[in-house]
Amino acid sequence: MDCIFCKIIAGDIPSTKVYEDEQVYAFRDINPQAPTHILVIPKAHIESVNAVSPENSGVVAHIFEVIPQIAKAEGLTGGYRVVSNCGADAGQTVFHLHFHILGGKELALEMA
Ligand code: AMP
Ligand code: ZN
Repeated sequence: MDCIFCKIIAGDIPSTKVYEDEQVYAFRDINPQAPTHILVIPKAHIESVNAVSPENSGVVAHIFEVIPQIAKAEGLTGGYRVVSNCGADAGQTVFHLHFHILGGKELALEMA
C-alpha cells in the first residue's frame, strides 16, 4: 500500500519519534504549524475519521489516552489543540488517520 504513514511506521521513511507502543506511533510533523506539532497515528491503517468503526475504534480511544501523556512530556502545561482533518474540504492530505497535537504558543481561535 502506498501510504507514507504506513511507511513511517515500518521505518522505511525516517521520522522523529516521540512515542510508540503496540498500537500507536507519534512523531514530529515535518512542516510544523506551532512550536510543538506532533502527529499521533494508529499503527493499523485507517483512512480517516470516516473509516472509524466499532471494529477499530478501540485504538482511537487509546490514542486519546496517549495524547495527554505526550502533551505532558512535551511540557504543554498551557494547553494544546487536537485536530483531525477528514476529507478534501478539511485539507486532509495524508489518508491515514492522524491527530495533530498543536501547542507551545497561544493558538489562533479561528477553526474555519
Ligand atoms: P493533514 O493535512 O491533516 O492530512 O496532515 C498531514 C500532515 O502530515 C501535514 O501536517 C504534513 O506536514 C505532515 N507530513 C507529511 N509528510 C510527513 C513526513 N514524512 N513526516 C512528518 N510529517 C509529515
Ligand atoms: Zn497507512
